[in-house]
Amino acid sequence: MHSRPCPALCPPRSPLPFRAPRRRLPQLLSPQTQSSWPVQWSMRRQDVPLPQAWKAQLPKEQHEWLSRALFRRNKDGRPVLIDSLQLWWHPPAPRPVFHQPPASPAPFTRPFFLWMPYRIWSFRLLCRQPNCHRTGQHLTSCSLYKTVRRVLDIDGWYFMATEYLECRLCKKKVVGWSRDVLEQLDPAHCAEFPAILTYR
Ligand SMILES: [Zn+2]
Repeated sequence: MHSRPCPALCPPRSPLPFRAPRRRLPQLLSPQTQSSWPVQWSMRRQDVPLPQAWKAQLPKEQHEWLSRALFRRNKDGRPVLIDSLQLWWHPPAPRPVFHQPPASPAPFTRPFFLWMPYRIWSFRLLCRQPNCHRTGQHLTSCSLYKTVRRVLDIDGWYFMATEYLECRLCKKKVVGWSRDVLEQLDPAHCAEFPAILTYR
């Protein structure tokens, strides 16, 4: 199971640009555009390595386990994504304490969905700008996208993050869950995307 039913414990903090459902074949109504985002990290050793924008948006109880799961420090001490990425990440189960009754799962931690079709599957994605598309310009990795989405699933909340891609020729940046990207994936990979993007 990728999540536990506790939606009442995780109220949304802002209107949701995504609505639920782990239904197949996402319908993206419009790609999101935002200005470029250089990933900023706290450089203090004692801090949990997590992009500052993610920290600001994710509840505190998500920070440590996500940081441990997704990031490592390189030889210069800078946080970087681990190599063996996957789509779904689940908070660790609490350790059993044998002299106490079985603990219930940590109530506030939620699953995390990392949508990085370029990074994880090495898709060769084309820039959709007419001049670039005609000459076969590919998108390359730019950064992590700063916005983390909170998605209501049928059995609880999960969080979703993605990558930011860039065309080296025209410098246009594209969000990993945009229609420009999803429409280039084959149906099997596209179906892995669990949410339906909507705008109000
Ligand atoms: Zn381009």
